[in-house]
Amino acid sequence: MSDRISARRVLTPKGWLSDCAVSFGDDGRISAVGAEGFDPASAVGTLLPGIANLHTHSFQRAMAGLAETRAPGGKDDFWSWRKVMYRFLDALTPEDIEAIAAQVQVDMAEAGYTTSAEFHYLHHQPGGAHYSDMAETSARIMAASHDSGIGLTHLPVLYTYGGLDGRALGTGQDRFGCDVSAFEKLYAAICGHSGNMPVDFRLGVAPHSLRAVDRAGLDACLALCPDGPIHIHAAEQVKEVEEVFAHLGARPVEYLLGEMPVDQRWCLIHATHLTDGEVSSLAFSGAVAGLCPTTEANLGDGIFPAQPYLNAGGCIGIGSDSNIRISLAEELRMLEVSQRLAVRQRTILASDETPSNGRYLYEHAASGGAQAVGRDAGTIEVGKLADLVALRDDMPFLDWPEPDQCLDAWIFGAEEPAVSDVWAAGRHIVRSGLHVRREPIRARFAATMRKLRDAL
Ligand code: ZN
Repeated sequence: MSDRISARRVLTPKGWLSDCAVSFGDDGRISAVGAEGFDPASAVGTLLPGIANLHTHSFQRAMAGLAETRAPGGKDDFWSWRKVMYRFLDALTPEDIEAIAAQVQVDMAEAGYTTSAEFHYLHHQPGGAHYSDMAETSARIMAASHDSGIGLTHLPVLYTYGGLDGRALGTGQDRFGCDVSAFEKLYAAICGHSGNMPVDFRLGVAPHSLRAVDRAGLDACLALCPDGPIHIHAAEQVKEVEEVFAHLGARPVEYLLGEMPVDQRWCLIHATHLTDGEVSSLAFSGAVAGLCPTTEANLGDGIFPAQPYLNAGGCIGIGSDSNIRISLAEELRMLEVSQRLAVRQRTILASDETPSNGRYLYEHAASGGAQAVGRDAGTIEVGKLADLVALRDDMPFLDWPEPDQCLDAWIFGAEEPAVSDVWAAGRHIVRSGLHVRREPIRARFAATMRKLRDAL
């Protein structure tokens, strides 16, 4: 698997390097970055560090056509969307889950993501009975990543309650449910499958949210995963913030920062609704705010206060969450343009040191994403995993004298897919814009969609 990639422009922590070769070894890690070995005949144009997609529920990709119709006289919002989602997921078999996840990972890779962090709560059979292998559906996500070759951080979800008052799970939630002791058994079974994964695989844990997990559940998650990534949904909806405040006496992010050892291992997904105090405290904690701009827009969640948070030194990463869109460039663009609409200015997320809006967004999402998924990646330098993305060199739209301008043009305006090649820990999974296993994975996904369409 060792290889050497030549590129005319390479984005490194020292800035752009010209006419540069990036070498990596059989361990999937970068072994050299420099002029030596540069081959102009085989050179790609622009080489970037890969970005981790830090939050995905891959199965939701397959329900895109179900959830954009307004109920008669109804007010559609996150909560009505969730009802549609619960109805849909009861039709999914483990085979479907694997087929959809593999297709989603192919789409992610072709969009330029090098890692997928699956926030996985669909553990059991419809009705809640366990599979004979409790980790059946997690094993399906892992199998999908074997097929697609994308880097995987798996985040098994603890989901115990139907609400903050400790009520039992409601209709549609029985496939998620675990108390602490069942979750410990599930986690052990998932660890058993992890031995078959490539060395860059990471296993973390995800208490679903303060709606679904109590203090004892949070503590149990920390005990199960003493050094991996910890992800939790927080403050996505105003109603959720109000409920958490009513039951716990603090807002969700405030509660987590006050009661939990939130640090660089943590990723607070969404964190949309923050007070000024929470903005600075979350930034200071070193945790990553896991932003999912296209899903947050699709679900009408609200706008994350990115400018004050980044000014306070906060870390961000991006995820495609519901996968209503799988477009790395669009996530970054949506993050920026939502800020512009809110404050009525332009080029919000940039700095004097990095005035290019596209490059600022890209570098922050690359380093924050790698941190959030527990992956030694996010920059192109010796010792890091060879998570690499090359942009097409044949698009006049991207043909600018400064490489920052190329990034800006891609993120803010490209109509066509701009990614030519992707390597995940050195695995060359996208070539000339197409995933290497695109056709068989697509055929299986098509059969799954036909089956689901007939079942619903
Ligand atoms: Zn989510």
